[in-house]
Amino acid sequence: MTARVIAIANQKGGVGKTTTVVNLAAGLAELGRRVLIVDLDPQGNATMGSGIGKQSLERSVYQVLLGDATVEEARQPAKEGGYDVLPANRDLGGAELELVNELAREARLKNALVAVENDYDYVLIDCPPSLNLLTLNGLVAASSVLIPMVCEYYALEGLSDLVTTLRKVRAVVNPRIEIMGLLRTMFDARSNLSQQVAEQLARHFGNKVLDTVVPRNVRLAEAPSHGLPGLIYDRTSRGAQAYLALAQELVSRMEPATETPSV
Ligand code: ADP
Ligand code: MG
Repeated sequence: MTARVIAIANQKGGVGKTTTVVNLAAGLAELGRRVLIVDLDPQGNATMGSGIGKQSLERSVYQVLLGDATVEEARQPAKEGGYDVLPANRDLGGAELELVNELAREARLKNALVAVENDYDYVLIDCPPSLNLLTLNGLVAASSVLIPMVCEYYALEGLSDLVTTLRKVRAVVNPRIEIMGLLRTMFDARSNLSQQVAEQLARHFGNKVLDTVVPRNVRLAEAPSHGLPGLIYDRTSRGAQAYLALAQELVSRMEPATETPSV
């Protein structure tokens, strides 16, 4: 079985993409799945949040995109959590310009991942907060997109930009890409606005809205400074439990039961 490749994308910053990538990786690893995180954000937050120092990287996703290193050479195990990371740092910010004259520049990541597709059950790509060439590499490599979002006033407007981009990606470079799900993050169940936005979301996207809701939880925000997923830092916290539930929901949505139904 080759890896299922999921891009975690939303051009808005601060919606919980990186938190979702790191905790979902730890959750899937706990369920026995082999996971690789690809950090496609020059900020390197998924790298740091996995306990990997971004300053001292000998090889990173930057070299991989430029064809100067393989994924096997650049990947590293997370400090804890039981998953691997293809790390990133600020070098990656230069990749966009350097790739301008390269052939198939939007398929660099996809082509590089072929070599490790049998090493993993899931590859989770942490996209930067923009719709640039890096994000495009993520969307070309992926078979589905997981969209974290905060249920606030402008959330739906931001989503329509992403849906338009996905439509173009589907038409031009990656016809198989689909929305795996929309994840409500930092959810405040007591807020009327959150409830209203969640209802609108359900009306527009139906069962693409995931059942799991991630609450606002300070333990999730504290964990990265320890280089740990929230799931390892404090697994009893409500945030950690939500991400464990998300891992389970993802597995049940993406790994259809293999037994044949009895007649
Ligand atoms: P993005 O990758 O989309 O920019 P992050 O995952 O980095 O978003 O989250 C933005 C900030 O919010 C970070 O400081 C993170 O620790 C915090 N955060 C993310 N999810 C939660 C949550 N469920 N509860 C509280 N804080 C959160
Ligand atoms: Mg991020």
